[in-house]
Amino acid sequence: MNKTFILITLISVGLTCLISTLFGFAGSTIIGTFWGWFWITILIQFIGFLIINSYLIQKDNLQRQQAELETLDKLAKFSIKLTCAYCQQYNVTPIQLNQKNTFKCESCNQVNGISMQFMATTLTSPIESVKIPVEKSESIEFKVT
Ligand SMILES: [Zn+2]
Repeated sequence: MNKTFILITLISVGLTCLISTLFGFAGSTIIGTFWGWFWITILIQFIGFLIINSYLIQKDNLQRQQAELETLDKLAKFSIKLTCAYCQQYNVTPIQLNQKNTFKCESCNQVNGISMQFMATTLTSPIESVKIPVEKSESIEFKVT
């Protein structure tokens, strides 16, 4: 077991007993016995720790989920260069993989739909056979409809 963990646990237990002892002495001067106050204080602290702990774990989970969503959102956005289907003018448009994409041509104001096509390649293919000329790449990977 981890030494730091044992140390922290011992300190926590020590503090809990100390607080319970103080409440035991203080409470028993008013009403009841030392041990009555002692055990009730320990119980209250224990329940308090449980509540705080589960709250912290929940908060931690929520933050992690939020961070994962933001990362996914960033990964899903790309900018690509496409020719307008109406006037062949080049347009740079953001696309997202998880939704339907359209863009309005800057030159003729027509709304274009974007259809995406993906293809699988074998990893052993010679590089020359999968190389796509830069100018034609969008007509193979991204088609404007
Ligand atoms: Zn256009």
